[in-house]
Amino acid sequence: MDFIIGALDYFVTNLAEGMRIEGMRYLIGAGGTFFITWILLRGALANRRIRKALPAKLRNKQIGRELRNSSITILVFVFAYSLTEYTLQSIFGQSVFRIYTDVAEYGWVYLVFSVVLWTVGLDTYFYWTHRFMHHKRFYKFFHMAHHRSHNPTPFTAYSFAPPEAILVYLFVPIFFTIVPMHDVAFVSAMLIQIIRNAMAHCGYELFPRGWAQHPILGIFSTVTHHDLHHEKGNGNYGFYFTFWDRVMGTEHADYIERFARATENSSKLKTAFERI
Ligand SMILES: [Zn+2]
Ligand SMILES: [Zn+2]
Repeated sequence: MDFIIGALDYFVTNLAEGMRIEGMRYLIGAGGTFFITWILLRGALANRRIRKALPAKLRNKQIGRELRNSSITILVFVFAYSLTEYTLQSIFGQSVFRIYTDVAEYGWVYLVFSVVLWTVGLDTYFYWTHRFMHHKRFYKFFHMAHHRSHNPTPFTAYSFAPPEAILVYLFVPIFFTIVPMHDVAFVSAMLIQIIRNAMAHCGYELFPRGWAQHPILGIFSTVTHHDLHHEKGNGNYGFYFTFWDRVMGTEHADYIERFARATENSSKLKTAFERI
């Protein structure tokens, strides 16, 4: 009983701060991507639209649902972080998260390397947990809420059911108990993560023509890669990279062709970038 009261107390104490940080991160990532791709560059990106846009009424209804789900996701993240920190502190008598604040402890090269390691680790974690959630036995419980957005928007990024939010979150304590990470590296990795996530759901191909076909650049996934996942409901399970999909044979056969189609008219986009 003492443990439950202690955990709740810890959560309530950190609630406002946690919501402020996570809310801000979501606002920058999802809100920022929405503003840039759907408002600021709307005209310039018109011929980069991967699929036909939803009618306004349906789209607004979807965004409303995504924002509701995302608010719950953020609350789940804050709650789960408080709970794991409190539990681990209760068991070990101190925090076992290997977050450090003095750059000199490991140096700048390690700081950058830890972000790369996070990115590669997260992509691997994402691929396998994503495939797990697509198993017909677990799909409804974990992942169906996310796929209700068949034609996604930047706000689809965190549109999860609470069980999926917990599974997504679990990467954080796993990584932190194994790998030392500077707090600036952590904040950077989390920011890159939400921006890249919102980009993957924005519905416009933002990568340059020839990217997906390129022997090296093609390892980095594009917007079309995840958009196809929402359209077809399977395949293309990776997040940052196409690596696991290619190794495991789960990449959509028409991925390259669809990417080429989404990027065939780039002239307007080029002009827009030149103007900025
Ligand atoms: Zn999925
Ligand atoms: Zn998605």
